[in-house]
Amino acid sequence: MDLLFLGTGAGVPAKHRNVTSLALNLLGERGVTWLFDCGEATQHQVLHTSIRPRRIEKIFITHLHGDHIFGLPGFLGSRSFQGGETPLTIYGPKGIKEFVDISLRVSETHLRYPIHFGEVEDGIVFEDEQFIVEARLLEHGVSSYGYRIIEKDTKGTLLVEKLRELGIKPGPVYRDIKEKEEVVLEDGRVLKSADYIGPSKKGRIVTILGDTRPCTNALELAKGADVLVHEATFSEEDDRIAHEYYHSTSFGAAETAKKAEVKKLILTHISSRYHKEEALVLLEEAKKTFENTEMAFDFSQFMIDNEGR
Ligand SMILES: [Zn+2]
Ligand SMILES: [Zn+2]
Repeated sequence: MDLLFLGTGAGVPAKHRNVTSLALNLLGERGVTWLFDCGEATQHQVLHTSIRPRRIEKIFITHLHGDHIFGLPGFLGSRSFQGGETPLTIYGPKGIKEFVDISLRVSETHLRYPIHFGEVEDGIVFEDEQFIVEARLLEHGVSSYGYRIIEKDTKGTLLVEKLRELGIKPGPVYRDIKEKEEVVLEDGRVLKSADYIGPSKKGRIVTILGDTRPCTNALELAKGADVLVHEATFSEEDDRIAHEYYHSTSFGAAETAKKAEVKKLILTHISSRYHKEEALVLLEEAKKTFENTEMAFDFSQFMIDNEGR
């Protein structure tokens, strides 16, 4: 599992930062990539990575501001043109379906795969045996959502050596031990399955927020996360502007990270007013409050292992 930042700028594209898009690669977990936001030219950014558009299974849109969605129609068309035939689900606030439908219809773009839409409200937007994705409304003037991606704990593996020592050979009985609490062997012995299964693996939690002022829902979504991806449009000295435009400063992001006791904070959505070196000031500011902070640049990649390092 890793995060690959495709665009880390706010509002308008800059030479060194494209507008927002972030890929959560789940290749090891489910052989796919999930995309969070799709600012203009996201498909151009994808060309510089190993991401394959046809492998993108879900796109989560945080809000409908142009710097987060103007790349969608082009991306969707190219995914089809490049042979993508598997279904794609787009989650987002009310209006996302209309935006996509009109863009595709007016431009006569015909896709070779079905698109499903999930209109996001507070609560669970997706769940299967592996993951839960929960959304909550943030504070951004328009409906902007944050997503908490929760990987479910996985059962431990079978302690094969231990079973062999008891003379129990591989067969259907191994499956029974995995699935049942107690297993009666052919010779009448009774095994407690828990004694023959290793420790379960704790699932990871990744929180990806849309544009927002620091708020309670941001904190709730971030609680105990392995990684929190938070916007940091402005520096602390522009605190008032940040508040007025419903954005966060790097200090605000760090405070949320600290209160939520996350393991790592990643700053993104940096205003184009900060050039490469200037942006590092935002990082230093955040680190004073929350030490384990990183700043994302376009194409920054962060592995998320089970310790969240
Ligand atoms: Zn934005
Ligand atoms: Zn916005």
